[in-house]
Order: sequence, then C-alpha cells, then structure tokens
Amino acid sequence: MTTATVKAYGATASTEVLKPLDIQRRAAGADDIKIDISYCGVCHSDIHTVRDDWKGSTYPVVPGHEIIGRVVEVGDNVNSHKIGDLVGVGCMVDSCQTCSSCEQNLEQFCEKGATFTYNSKDKHIEGSQTYGGYSTSVVVDEKFVLRIPENLDEAATAPLLCAGVTTWSPLRHWKVKKGDKVGVIGLGGLGHMGVKFANALGAHVVMITTSPEKGKDAKRLGAHEVLVSKDQDDMKKHQGSFDFILNTIPVGHEMDPYLGLLKIDATMVLVGAVEPLKPFHGGSVIMGRKRIAGSLIGGIKETQEMLDFCGEHNITSDIELIDMQDINTAYERVTSNDVKYRFVIDIKSLK
Ligand SMILES: [Zn+2]
Ligand SMILES: [Zn+2]
Repeated sequence: MTTATVKAYGATASTEVLKPLDIQRRAAGADDIKIDISYCGVCHSDIHTVRDDWKGSTYPVVPGHEIIGRVVEVGDNVNSHKIGDLVGVGCMVDSCQTCSSCEQNLEQFCEKGATFTYNSKDKHIEGSQTYGGYSTSVVVDEKFVLRIPENLDEAATAPLLCAGVTTWSPLRHWKVKKGDKVGVIGLGGLGHMGVKFANALGAHVVMITTSPEKGKDAKRLGAHEVLVSKDQDDMKKHQGSFDFILNTIPVGHEMDPYLGLLKIDATMVLVGAVEPLKPFHGGSVIMGRKRIAGSLIGGIKETQEMLDFCGEHNITSDIELIDMQDINTAYERVTSNDVKYRFVIDIKSLK
C-alpha cells in the first residue's frame, strides 16, 4: 500500500493540546476519491475523543468529521463524483455494505461496526487507524462521499455533515410534518440546526431553554415560541401539547418535566446525552403511552437527502470561522458553551 504524508493537527495523549502532526494517507484505490479539504467543523465528539472521555481513544487522535472539500483525484471505478466537485464527508468512511443495517441504508448501525472517520481501525493501512478532517486531504471510498449543493456557503455547510444529519434524521424518522408542535430542548450546535429544520418542515417550533437570553436568538433562527423550562407556570401552560420533542441536552438531566410536555403517543428523542440519565418516573411515560427514543447521526442516503433539502431551502449552520492554530482556544470555548453555534476550521491555515 503506497501512502503519502499529509499535514494534520492532532493530540498525542489525552492530557495534551492539539499540535501539528504528519499522518499517512493511502493512495486513491479504484473505488476511492481523494479530497482536498477546505473546511472542517468542530464537533463536541472531537473534544470527547481527544480527551478520552468515552475511553477507547487511540493516539494520535486527529479529529474532524464535518469535512468539506473538492475532489482532486478519482479511482477507475468511481462514477458518482468527478474532479473539481464540491463534496463532503461526515462521521463514517466505511461499513460492511452487506448486513441488514447496511442494506436498510443505516450504515451507522452496521452490525460489523461502521468505520468512523477518525479513531476507527483503518481497513486499508495495516495497524493504522482513521484520521479525520483536521488535515489537508483525505482519501475516502466513493460510497461515503456526499454531494454538496454549490449554492450553499462552503464553510457554513460543514456542520451539516454531523450536527445537521443528527437532528434531521429523527425529525424525518418520526415524520414531523406541517402544523406539528415541535419542541427543541437546548440551543447549541445540534439545537440550532433542529430549530432550522423543524421550521423548514412547516412545524410550529418551540425553543425549550433554561435561558430567556437564548430564546431571543432562537426566534431569529426560526422558533415561533420560547418556553423557559425554569418557569413553572409556562411549563404548565404547555403541558400535554407537543407532538414531538428533540432533546439535544449533552449531559444527564431530569426527564420528567419534559415528558410532561408530550401529547398522548408522542415521542421525545435523545440525540445529545451519551451518558447516564437521571432516573425518571414510570408514570411519566405510562400516563399517555409516551415514548423516549434515541437517534444516532443518519445513514449516507439520508445524509444526502438532508444536504439536497438544505440546497433547496438555503439552510446552513451559523458558524465562527477559525484558523487551525486557534483550535485549542476553540475547544475551551465549546466546553464552556461559548460559540454561536459551531466553529469551522479554515484548512487554508494549515496548508
Ligand atoms: Zn459530530
Ligand atoms: Zn454492515
């Protein structure tokens, strides 16, 4: 296997900050596309992996799974994209393609384990692991390369590849439609995309937040109403009235107050908290036959549908563009919830 040295930024231990590194990328094979990276979003998962919060990080970690760039090389079998195309890569770069999950276009739940864009075992380079988009180029199997509508702002499109599809997929799976009353809990990278999508799907969108300050911005993003969850009277007023709730809170929390907001048979979907939740009262779901569900990113087909929808409706993320060299400060700010609403790295600064 021929490889090439590529400039990247990564961490060599959980206690280290990110710094310049050289990594090896494979040469493009027959089914591969080589992408010159222009932008990469900064996801909270990048920080968790760098800091080994979920255990299982293998160093060096080169994060980044919201990748935008241009095709610079295609293998002989590739016909989905051509040189010069604007493309994206999200959280996955490979899967078995034959299990029942893959056959249902749910590669994220591949029974053999999807190959994630970083910190997964690399099937192509013996003994190596995958490295993400905090780098100047990447080589990916064409099946995992997404088409990006040319009318969208390139940098602001990057977060659609993870934050976008993570919120889009549950809204589609639970068939949110025009006129539904949809609650979005939490206004961060995920929540702000949830508000935009629910609005574009024609729902009546209610931002559910602890902070009245955030409520103002939520209206600019497309929320029709703001529900301050600390306000007991306001919570009572909205009780039993929601068709669907998208819960983006990133940490364990009380669920009973939010379950009380659902209508009979309605669902609250968790997309943020990958950690233990506080115990909830059985009566909160027994009364009203309510459901708590979870959702993880989305399959490749669904990701493309989301991107095409964004092209038609001119939807992108609200971002702050940074240089690669500012990444450690950006991590501190993400950790203290001080970003509106996603950092995107201008990869030019690394070249
Ligand atoms: Zn992510
Ligand atoms: Zn599979």
